[in-house]
Amino acid sequence: MHGTQKEGLEVLLPAKEIAGRVEILGRRITLDYENKPLILIGILKGAFMFLADLIRKIDLPMSVDFMALSSYGNSTKSSGVVRIIKDLDYSLEGHHVVVVEDIVDTGLTLNYIYGHIKSRGALSVKICSLLDKPGRRQVAVPLHYKGFEIPDEFVVGYGLDVDEKYRNLPDICKLVRASE
Ligand code: 5GP
Repeated sequence: MHGTQKEGLEVLLPAKEIAGRVEILGRRITLDYENKPLILIGILKGAFMFLADLIRKIDLPMSVDFMALSSYGNSTKSSGVVRIIKDLDYSLEGHHVVVVEDIVDTGLTLNYIYGHIKSRGALSVKICSLLDKPGRRQVAVPLHYKGFEIPDEFVVGYGLDVDEKYRNLPDICKLVRASE
């Protein structure tokens, strides 16, 4: 590492445990949306891996769209500033929507997305987040489908990054930073 900071990783959620939970969420969505036109909206970049696994556990005809938002940049604290970098490709009219997010921390990002998507004419909008850090919530957001509640730790892996690193890790890990 550069400078005086050392990074270490500790596994919080192993890949197997994530896969088991994703399967349960996929089954629940399958039951809830039978005979309903369904679009899953993945929030880039962090949710890409979760979305890819989740949709393979949904046994229904469905489509996928993506939104990309500004991220934390180089910091690990939420700025509360949300900017759309890539908007939806398709109209949501006549469809039920499940927004797929990696993690809800302060809730500021999802609160914004939820309002934005609700204004686009969907029949219904629900939220599915793999991770939830309830201890840091600033805005209440409805989490209809939730993978795991985690403590107030910064996590990486399974699509989540810090400065674009670690997205490829199969496990979700705590990022431990220690000054030398
Ligand atoms: P919120 O607006 O709820 O504070 O933050 C949501 C976004 O912040 C997530 O979509 C994610 O991009 C980022 N984020 C929040 N907590 C973590 C974390 O522990 N690890 C990583 N890699 N990103 C996080």
